[in-house]
Amino acid sequence: MSQTELKDIKEFVKEWKNNLAKEIVANNIITPSLGIIQVGNNEASNRYVRNKIKDCEEVGIVVNLAQLDNDISEESFIECLKIMANSSDGIIVQLPIPCQLQNIVSHIYNYIPDNKDVDGFNPTSKFYPCTPAGILKYLEYCNINLDGMNVLVIGRSEIVGKPMAKILTKYNATVTLAHSHTKNLQDHIDKADLIICAVGQASFLNCAQIDVPVIDVGINFVNNYMVGDCYNTNNNVTPVPGGVGLLTRCALLQNTIDAYKINHML
Ligand code: NAD
Repeated sequence: MSQTELKDIKEFVKEWKNNLAKEIVANNIITPSLGIIQVGNNEASNRYVRNKIKDCEEVGIVVNLAQLDNDISEESFIECLKIMANSSDGIIVQLPIPCQLQNIVSHIYNYIPDNKDVDGFNPTSKFYPCTPAGILKYLEYCNINLDGMNVLVIGRSEIVGKPMAKILTKYNATVTLAHSHTKNLQDHIDKADLIICAVGQASFLNCAQIDVPVIDVGINFVNNYMVGDCYNTNNNVTPVPGGVGLLTRCALLQNTIDAYKINHML
């Protein structure tokens, strides 16, 4: 039986948000601000943006929202990025963005300074990407000592798997980064002390025989229901919904407040 137990994520997120709100007051951080650029009217994006605004309001971060038309030109989009870079402590571009802007995706970070790139998507950003950052903070809250631990990360995306593996390595975990070409995944699962699964396939990981903690990053929709990557789950597997998504949202708040501090040399 695993000695390592996961704790209630909702409790953790409540505590984290309370601490962020207190931190804003304690440091006299009056108006940390998050610039959100959204292009078009995608239903999922609208929901994500609404949630981000609600989170910001809860802790005292001001949101500068730019809602741009779906057919906006590259020049106008860049102009908006520049304005945001001057007016906000942190800046995010809500994905997806329409095809006429795809060319600038690769150099979007020419217009978002590293100390404001609170999504942490650019490798030179001052911030960790929000999902791995949120997971790290949660593992600390669960008193999981990563030093020497065998951690299996499944999925090698630029925004979750790879940065997660890098962060865990920094904390002295022994990390295995599995992906679609990995052979004998079960062998790696059997050796792991902790598993972080970010594949994006419903019913990918059967947790019935797994007695180590599993962080389920996946978001999948089956018959309009949101599910993770894991099935046959137990208390030691993070829930979906109400799991890693909440951590990701909180990490964005943390990064924005940290950006304010960097920008104001606090
Ligand atoms: P992705 O979709 O870019 O890539 C999936 C990864 O899974 C790839 O690296 C691939 O190699 C790996 N993979 C595919 N089949 C595999 C197999 N059979 N064995 C091992 N690995 C395999 O990854 P992503 O952007 O990190 O997204 C993964 C999932 O996490 C998605 O469901 C996404 O929606 C979700 N996600 C959730 C949050 C959150 O806040 N909860 C944040 C980001 C992503």
